[in-house]
Amino acid sequence: MKALVIEDTVTSATLICQMLGKMGLDTVRARDGRSGIEAFERERPDLVLLDVIMPDLDGFQVARRLRAIEQGVDWTPIIFLSARASDDDLAQGIDAGGDDYLVKPVSEKVLGAKVAAMRRIVRMREVLLRTTRKLDEANRELARRNAIDGLTGIANRGRFDEVLDHEWRRASRSGLPISLLFIDVDEFKAFNDGHGHLPGDECLKDLAGLLEQSLRRPSDLVARYGGEEFAVILPETAGEGAASVADSVMRAVREAAIPHGFSSVSPFLTISIGIATAVPERGDERGSEILLTLADEALYKAKRAGRNRVVQAD
Ligand code: GH3
Ligand code: MG
Ligand code: MG
Ligand code: MG
Repeated sequence: MKALVIEDTVTSATLICQMLGKMGLDTVRARDGRSGIEAFERERPDLVLLDVIMPDLDGFQVARRLRAIEQGVDWTPIIFLSARASDDDLAQGIDAGGDDYLVKPVSEKVLGAKVAAMRRIVRMREVLLRTTRKLDEANRELARRNAIDGLTGIANRGRFDEVLDHEWRRASRSGLPISLLFIDVDEFKAFNDGHGHLPGDECLKDLAGLLEQSLRRPSDLVARYGGEEFAVILPETAGEGAASVADSVMRAVREAAIPHGFSSVSPFLTISIGIATAVPERGDERGSEILLTLADEALYKAKRAGRNRVVQAD
């Protein structure tokens, strides 16, 4: 444990440092308020012994500055040292952020007892800090997992809804278009029935990887929307750009040539894509539904027209 002694009277400072040294503490000394604050920032002590009457800043002012430097659970115990010890002084000291008050000349026994009490505070603070850090980490991990689809490792439906809402609002402010692709695997029930559910799962994972690789911008998002349905959000993208992304996706799936022995469309796995593009009106913050409906209708048309194709909503 490291103690910072801020005290302008040399004899008193020396005596207190000696006593603290005997108790096994490392000590750092400062001779006035300002250098005390500097030493506090530099040394990050575990305990501060703080004289009240000093030439520049008084101890109460110093204590307030120290508390302002610290944040949240970062709490260093402060013990005031003073020759005066009226009830008012004590109350003022605690009010300024102090934890205890010692009357000079300091008795070794009293100092020892107070240091022992402060040691307990220091330990509790350490436990609290460690727990808080672990909790923060766990919360971050939880947020990450809540946004991710367990099978494919890409964004899940919840994350998709969040991002679509966010991007739609942004588009309604910028006046730029936003596009959406709805992607559905063709005859996937037959794939599962014929090849088995586990190969079906593998196929969805592969597909998620292909989709991710087909996107170009960091702001593009691919999500697993449901069972064998995926959705892609393309911010700041007009119809032409969306069609070109859809073509890349079709090409990637074609080139992957995943065998599908039970499809009426092709000997290989195929997908159908519906595209919708909109330019939200200024101030239209909640209209992203329309994009979903249009993309879904376009996808339905692609299925009806024979699957393995892209249809763009008007
Ligand atoms: P369509 O060409 O009209 O899209 O026909 P489809 O068979 O793909 O469509 P349908 O909606 O009838 O069937 C979807 C199938 O996708 C049902 C289920 O067997 C399969 N499926 C959905 N989620 C999963 C999954 O997580 N893993 C696996 N292996 N299969 C899934
Ligand atoms: Mg003094
Ligand atoms: Mg489907
Ligand atoms: Mg399907």
